[in-house]
Amino acid sequence: MTWPSRYGGGERSYLDRYAVLEELLAAGAPVAAHWIADRQTGPLLLRYGTEEQRQRFLPAIARGECFFAIGMSEPDSGSDLASVRTTAVAADGGWRVNGTKVWTSHAHHSHYMITLVRTAPRGEDRHQGLSQLIVDLHGEGVEVRPIKLLSGEPHFNEVVFNEAFVPQEMLVGELGDGWKQVTSELAYERSGPERFLSTYPLLAETVRELGPTPGDGVTQALGALYSRLAALRELSVGVARRLEAGAAPAVEAAMVKDLGTRFEVEVIEAARRLVDPEQAGERFQRLYQAALTSAPGFTLRGGTSEILRGIVARELRP
Ligand SMILES: Cc1cc2nc3c(=O)[nH]c(=O)nc-3n(C[C@H](O)[C@H](O)[C@H](O)COP(=O)(O)OP(=O)(O)OC[C@H]3O[C@@H](n4cnc5c(N)ncnc54)[C@H](O)[C@@H]3O)c2cc1C
Repeated sequence: MTWPSRYGGGERSYLDRYAVLEELLAAGAPVAAHWIADRQTGPLLLRYGTEEQRQRFLPAIARGECFFAIGMSEPDSGSDLASVRTTAVAADGGWRVNGTKVWTSHAHHSHYMITLVRTAPRGEDRHQGLSQLIVDLHGEGVEVRPIKLLSGEPHFNEVVFNEAFVPQEMLVGELGDGWKQVTSELAYERSGPERFLSTYPLLAETVRELGPTPGDGVTQALGALYSRLAALRELSVGVARRLEAGAAPAVEAAMVKDLGTRFEVEVIEAARRLVDPEQAGERFQRLYQAALTSAPGFTLRGGTSEILRGIVARELRP
């Protein structure tokens, strides 16, 4: 919605996009395949990509034909992302990539992955020598192995590179600038309504189950949840406004994600307390079960709560 029309975008504001995302999430719409390309890859390429990369990928993403995954985490590298070990070594016309990424959401549906790799040996400053490459997930030497969530859903994957060739023109931004680029992506990743609306369909169904005249205690509990939801929304809309103004509000985004994911988990607990899942309708049971089994991931994906609080504390330190 926000991209320039020459790349197939709608030239709308971040706030317009926010309103549409919110409606999709509140309805529990199946949006996952397009999510990362729209939220992260597009803005990344608009900011750091070459004109050739923009022409090649952005119109295809806007048409809903090209999906991207995020290749940051590795088996021994999650919160401490600068420790990634996947290497890209210069080869004729590009790089040879070796290593393993893990927890890669929807890599099995995606066409490409923005992959954080080490392009220079680890020196004193380990944030240097990292780069971002666009890797073709169907290319030779790339294997995508599914990993199931607790719910049984095939959500994420292990992605293994064995001498995978990546052409020169697939480097995003400057060689060695990967750390700066990857951290600038995170304001987009952490601040949207998806960080507090994952369990909204369950909350709405809880209200429906309780009917038009719930008792006083129940009304109070719902009111407390609703007021927190309203506050979170204000905070998250505030970040969308700052993104619109061209800022990279990392602290505010970290706050949205930490407070928002905590709220999402509390909605599940409130639903269980207020409605007896065994006695409830089929829709409630389905939403409750899905929320309960995916909840452990809410406070992990996109940065754990401890890491987010660390960011806030560090940035606000006098
Ligand atoms: C549903 C889901 C989808 C995901 N999708 C993707 C994806 O598409 N692409 C991708 O690259 N990754 C993805 N991830 C991975 C996610 O980014 C990592 O799980 C996350 O960054 C944490 O890394 P880790 O699992 O290695 O845990 P670790 O970093 O090993 O952390 C373990 C625990 O130690 C704590 N901890 C670690 N360091 C500190 C510290 N300095 N101070 C205080 N506490 C600390 C953490 O908070 C956590 O509780 C996904 C994860 C989930 C659950």
